[in-house]
Amino acid sequence: MRKRFVIQFIRQYAGRLAGVFLLNVGYVLLTIFTFLMIEPFVKLLFYGNLDNLSPLSSYIISLVDNVVPSGNLQQSIALIIVCAVVLYFLRNLLAYSSQWVMAHVRSDFLYTLRNGLYDKMVSLPLGYFTRQNKGDAVTRAVNDTQEVEYTILVSIQKFLTDPIALVCYIGFLFYIDYQLTFWAVLLMPVSFLIIGFLAYLLKRSSKTYRQRLGVLLSHVEETLSGLRVIYSFNAQERAYRRFSQLNQQFHQNQKKVYRQSYLANPLSEFLGVVSVMVVLVIGGSLVLSERASLSPELFITYIALFSQIITPISNISSAFSDYKRGEAALDRINEFLSVEDPVRDLPDALPVSDFKDKIAFRDVSFAYFDTEVISHLDLEVKKGQTVAFVGQSGAGKSTLADLLMRFYDPTDGEILLDGVAVNKFRVAYYRSLFALVSQDVMLFNDTIYNNITLGRAATMEEVEEAAKAANIYDFVMSLPDGFNHIVGDRGTALSGGQRQRVSIARAVLRNAPVLVLDEATSAMDTESERLIQQSVEELAKQRTVVMIAHRLSTVRNADCICVLDGGRIAEQGTHEELMAAQGAYYQLVVSS
Ligand code: ADP
Repeated sequence: MRKRFVIQFIRQYAGRLAGVFLLNVGYVLLTIFTFLMIEPFVKLLFYGNLDNLSPLSSYIISLVDNVVPSGNLQQSIALIIVCAVVLYFLRNLLAYSSQWVMAHVRSDFLYTLRNGLYDKMVSLPLGYFTRQNKGDAVTRAVNDTQEVEYTILVSIQKFLTDPIALVCYIGFLFYIDYQLTFWAVLLMPVSFLIIGFLAYLLKRSSKTYRQRLGVLLSHVEETLSGLRVIYSFNAQERAYRRFSQLNQQFHQNQKKVYRQSYLANPLSEFLGVVSVMVVLVIGGSLVLSERASLSPELFITYIALFSQIITPISNISSAFSDYKRGEAALDRINEFLSVEDPVRDLPDALPVSDFKDKIAFRDVSFAYFDTEVISHLDLEVKKGQTVAFVGQSGAGKSTLADLLMRFYDPTDGEILLDGVAVNKFRVAYYRSLFALVSQDVMLFNDTIYNNITLGRAATMEEVEEAAKAANIYDFVMSLPDGFNHIVGDRGTALSGGQRQRVSIARAVLRNAPVLVLDEATSAMDTESERLIQQSVEELAKQRTVVMIAHRLSTVRNADCICVLDGGRIAEQGTHEELMAAQGAYYQLVVSS
């Protein structure tokens, strides 16, 4: 999974990554050339001549001399300094270009990843959030993607650039003095082992860190959507205690992660300095020895270049620890992306835009997890009829409506649309047969107009017609800015009844063949209720209506009332028939 992610990243941006690689090769070579200027510079300064230069340095000096011949000593020194400055400038220009290209790659990749995660979020199975909390999904989409940038992507960048630098520098150090370099290189695996162990510890604690952050965010989300309840029950203290307890756990874990991740750099730097000291000791003795295989000026060049290998080594080791740290975030993202919606299109699924006769449930059973909530149920919703589901709370009314709209597929049995199993149709087409007015009305913090159209292209006349059908038109007109009125967060600037009517207007505009109405459970003022009732009755004349009725007063006129009990239909018929039968419905009416 992780490997696939990395391979996909590299494949997607192969061209630009190759560019980064080449820019970096240039950067490393220019660094080496710049440092080669040290040897002739020291020679000129202390001996006043350029005799016995190492072969590569004398080659470079001959190149410079050919282009700009220098006369006296001072001019030669100045020329070398100018060369070094120009080379250093070019080297840093290449470094900047490589960073710039890579930053764009990272940002493009994250942009696509975030879009993908959001896309997944709006196509998750409805039951997903019963098990996972919402804050967790938010952490995955926002924090985890950011974490992947700072860890996985940055470490890919380091793996792409630092090993070349390391190989080139070490190669060059071997070229200057293989004996000295041999000892210096021996020290490296020790550093890698120490850093590797730290990386392992870090991965463990950063996984907990992500989980705890998700829990914390969920709590905040829950608090904000339940502020009304918290205030009315004076539960601030309890909410605060819970938050601070979660925050404390998160805080402890965060400190641990910081402790471990900030240790990586100083530790690897320290190990680097120890290596330099070893080189100084061994190199010093080589310079001073009788054999004098290493000239003092070449030794200075050597030390300068050796100091350059500390950065790539520490980058490579921190890339390992970053990568390990990021794996936890990457796993969480992958886990999220691989959630499959069990309700999906079959390969040759058909389009559908209306139905002729009826939607029928045949021996349908459904279980959320292990417990069956609908069992062996038969039902027919005939075109043009108004069907109402009534029953005690928990009887399965909402679940039945969810099955009807194919938010879930039955565990057993089948649902047929004009005799064709509904899973033969494309999900999006089938769902477009229904317009849902849900009891927890979801309005967005936007204008009434946009809340009614919900992104659909519609003329002002159509929106006005829908508002009239939903009995909300007069109210909208009474507002100073009419349809441009902003409804506030989740529509809180409107009353419950007004919200419900805006959502009915939304459903009317959608003009779907079936209107599914999940009646609001919370009590509404009688005026609102009357207006809603009136508009629903008006709408029912032109289309099929399925009502999930929590109050019996609203279902009297339904063509078919289904009384649900424990996931089965206990009885069905018209109000008069069921009253006459004196069964379950009669009992409900009498006891209400
Ligand atoms: P009603 O609409 O009649 O009040 P529901 O259809 O909402 O009843 O619920 C039927 C049963 O299914 C209840 O026992 C309820 O606890 C259970 N249930 C509803 N939704 C879920 C869910 N997302 N996950 C697990 N169980 C659920």
